[in-house]
This record gives sequence, C-alpha cells and structure tokens, in this order.
Amino acid sequence: MTFEFATASRIVFGAGSVREVASAARQWGSRALVVTGGNPNRAGGLIRQLELAGLSLAAFPVRGEPTVAAIREGVRAAREGRCDVVIAIGGGSAIDAGKAIAALMTNGPEPLDYLEIIGRGQPIANPSAPFIAIPTTAGTGSEVTRNAVLASPEHGVKASLRSPHMLPRLAVVDPELTFNLPAALTASTGLDALTQLLEAWVSVRANPITDGFCREGLPLVARSLRRAFHNGGDIEARSDMSLAALLSGLALANAALGAVHGFAAPVGGMFDAPHGAVCAALLPHATAVNIAALNSREPESENLRRYAEAARILIGNACASADDLIPWLTDLCRDLEIPSLRAYGIGEKHEASLVEKAARSNSMKGNPIALTAAELHEIIARAL
Ligand SMILES: [Zn+2]
Repeated sequence: MTFEFATASRIVFGAGSVREVASAARQWGSRALVVTGGNPNRAGGLIRQLELAGLSLAAFPVRGEPTVAAIREGVRAAREGRCDVVIAIGGGSAIDAGKAIAALMTNGPEPLDYLEIIGRGQPIANPSAPFIAIPTTAGTGSEVTRNAVLASPEHGVKASLRSPHMLPRLAVVDPELTFNLPAALTASTGLDALTQLLEAWVSVRANPITDGFCREGLPLVARSLRRAFHNGGDIEARSDMSLAALLSGLALANAALGAVHGFAAPVGGMFDAPHGAVCAALLPHATAVNIAALNSREPESENLRRYAEAARILIGNACASADDLIPWLTDLCRDLEIPSLRAYGIGEKHEASLVEKAARSNSMKGNPIALTAAELHEIIARAL
C-alpha cells in the first residue's frame, strides 16, 4: 500500500472561529485581496474585522462560478492593490477564485499557461501568495483541496489549476456563516458533500486516512442534512454539515472522485448549472449503475462491500445491503426537492457529447469500476 496525504497548513473549526482570521492575515501581509461571492455585503463582518486589525483591503466579488477571464481580472486587481495576502469568503466559487488568484500572483498572470485540458498545463512552480479560505456553504470542501475549477465559456468545459502549492495556508470553517444559506443551496451543497464522501469511499485511490474521514462524515449527513434543509437555524445540524463538508474535502483531495463528478465537469462546462445541484441530480443514478456493474462483472469486489457499509451507515440499519442505498438516495433527493438535469436545459440531444467528455474527465479515473459507454449513457438518461 502506498499513499500520500496533504491538506491546508492549518484548519480551524467552530462557531465564531471567523474571528481568528484577522490576526492570522496580519502575520502574512498588510494588504489583502478579499474575494467574495456576488454580494460582497455578506462579508461585511469580516471586512470590518480586517480593517480594525489595520489591514488595507481590495474587494473582488465573483459572480457565479469563476471563469478564466474573471481570474485574469482578479490577478490584475491584486497587483494594482499591491496585495500580499488573499482571503476568500464564500461558496466553492469564491474559494476556488481566491485559490487561483493567489497561485497566479506568484507564478504568472495567465491562467491558460497552467490550466489542465484547455491550457498549456505547465506546473505551478512557486508557492502561492498566502491564502485564507473561509467557506460560507457546507458542500465543496474547497477550503482543503489543491485545485481550483475554472470555466471557459468559449471552450464549453471546466478545467482545473492544480498544485500542492495551492493548498490554503489557513482554512477557517465557521458553521455560523452558513445559518443564512437558503434551503435550496443547503440541499444542493449538502448533497455535493455526500457525493464527495461516497465517491471517495469507493474510489480506486481510497486509503486508510481518507476512509476514516468518510466513515466520520457519512453519518453526519444522514442525521443532519434534512434538518438543516428544513430549519436553517438548527445549530447542531449546521455544525454537522460544515464538518461533513470539510471531511469530504479532506477525503476527495487525497483519494479521488468518480462518475458523478466525471459528468459534473462537462455538464457544468456546457450549461449554466450549479455544481452541487448537478451532482445531486446524478448521485442516485450513478450509484445505481455502479452497483449494477459491480454486481454483474465483479461480484466479489471489495467495493460492493463498501457500498453495503455506506448503506448501513446512512440508513442506520445493520442489515442494509448495497442495493438499499439507491432508494435511500432517491428519497433524499426527492425530499430535498432536487430538480432533474432537464431543469438546466439538458436533453437527449446532449447525451452523446456529455458521455464522451465524461469518459475522458479526470474524476472518472477514481470510479470503482470502469463503466462502458452504454452504462455512462444510462446514468445521464436516468438523470434527465
Ligand atoms: Zn463536488
């Protein structure tokens, strides 16, 4: 057995922990680029705290999921503001944007020089500018991953900047920041965390460290995602989901993902559909096809045993089998009002190109069994 584990240099978790940010930022610089989601007012509390600590600030709001063009603009804003530290507060989009900007500040301003797939894919040689990640959703785990997903509308795909240098210097996970998350976002981001835990758990690159994170994370989602969806102010449920998302990030960054994320990359590249909602719509169907493929071609597979263990953890029934997972996931997605992929304009005519792109995507390499083109078609057809 060989494996490697790497994560953010420091992780601080807990209600109120966002108050740690200013003193940490002060150690690393005096001028911060604050990367936020589309509405920077939501970061008002943090901004006041940073100003009180004597930092000068340049704000950089990112609307929607970050594009190559938005990152170019962010690097320019950081240079013009002579920023020496980057702080991202928001969902996965804001954190990925901050991560990419911090890397390009010290390497070279052009994202396409370093982007996988659509760019030149050069390695990122220099450590990023000091980067602090503060999630305000409980889903992506991007605060502890080493890649930033960028969209390039002209290429119709999403691609990553990726380097161990991109792991944040500090990740601050404060469940209080998720209290105001609307129910629909609670559902889609929470199901992204569940997908990440489940895909890392059965990934061909799972290892004993990531297994531990998945075993801790899965029961938190089972007991708290519905609660957080129905009552956003439920402190315990919000805290469970923030922790589950963090654990999913620790797992996915050090294991790998699978068919759901394999499809999520081209779907997100071709359509205006949020990552978490896409993963949620695909999750029951990709799981069903994976389990059927394992049952027919590898009935003795360790991964069937793992799917059964996940079913026992999630359903809370010691007799549950791998197949029981599918109705449980289907019910969860229905209760959380997850729309099908058709809601984003995806139809039968897109199946072939999505299958072709998903088959080549990075995430597909972690799937517990190599799926045939017909099986990939089945996943997307069922998710419409
Ligand atoms: Zn994801």
